[in-house]
Amino acid sequence: MIFIQDFLLSPIKDLKIPSQKWNPQILEVQEPLIKVQQVPNRLYIRPIYYELNIPSSIQSIYLRKGVYLRIKKALEILPRQYSFILFDGFRPFQVQQSLFNLFLEKTKMQHPELTEEEIFQITLKYVAYPSIEPTLTSPHITGGAIDLTLGDANGNELDLGTKFDEMNEKSATRYFEDHPEENVTALQNRRILYNSLIHVGFTNYADEWWHYDFGNISWARRVNEQVVPYGPVLAELENNDVKEFQFI
Ligand SMILES: [Zn+2]
Repeated sequence: MIFIQDFLLSPIKDLKIPSQKWNPQILEVQEPLIKVQQVPNRLYIRPIYYELNIPSSIQSIYLRKGVYLRIKKALEILPRQYSFILFDGFRPFQVQQSLFNLFLEKTKMQHPELTEEEIFQITLKYVAYPSIEPTLTSPHITGGAIDLTLGDANGNELDLGTKFDEMNEKSATRYFEDHPEENVTALQNRRILYNSLIHVGFTNYADEWWHYDFGNISWARRVNEQVVPYGPVLAELENNDVKEFQFI
C-alpha cells in the first residue's frame, strides 16, 4: 500500500496571473548558482535543450542555492515511488534567444494564416522574451526558475498529459481539473507535482504545468512580494557549460 499525503492530491486552485503593474524592486542577494547533482531514485537531470542541440545550450543544470534547497525539501514530502526529473534551470541569455527564435519559427510554420504580431504573442505565451531589463527579466535567466516533471523511482517520465514544451491548451496546469474524464492519471500526477512544490514556496506558471519559480520577478508578482532577491545572471560559456557567471 502506497501512502500519499492528502494534501498532495488536493485540487489545483485557480492560479494567479502575475500583474505586470506590480513592479517590485530587485535587490540582488548574490546567492550563487549551484550545479545540480543527480540523486539516484529521487532526482534526475535531463538537460533537454542540450539534448535537442539548441545553440549555446549547457549540459548541466544550475539553480540558485535557495531553489536547490527547496527542491530537496520537496523531495522529502514526495512519496518514495516518485522522483523529479529536471529539464532546465538557469538559462543563459544566449540560450533564451535561441529558444525564442526557434519557437517563433515553429509558430509561424504551424499558423501561416496569422500576422507577425499574432505569431509574436503566441510565442510569448510559451517562451519569455529574452531580456535582462529589471522589470522584464526572463524567469530562467535568474536561476530562480525550473522546468521539471514527475518520474517513477527509476527516472522514467510519468504521464502528465502532454509532452514538455507542448504549445497548446492542454499544457495549462489546471487543464485536467476542468476535464478530468480525459486523463485521470495526468490529473493526479499534476496535483502531486504542483502541491509538493507549492508547499515549499514555489509558484507555478498557469500555462505550463512544468514551470515553477522562486525568488525571481515572476514569483514576486504572483505572491505580491515587494522585493525580488534573484535578478538576472550573465554567464560566460565554454564547452557547453558555464565558465563564469556574474550578477548584474
Ligand atoms: Zn520554464
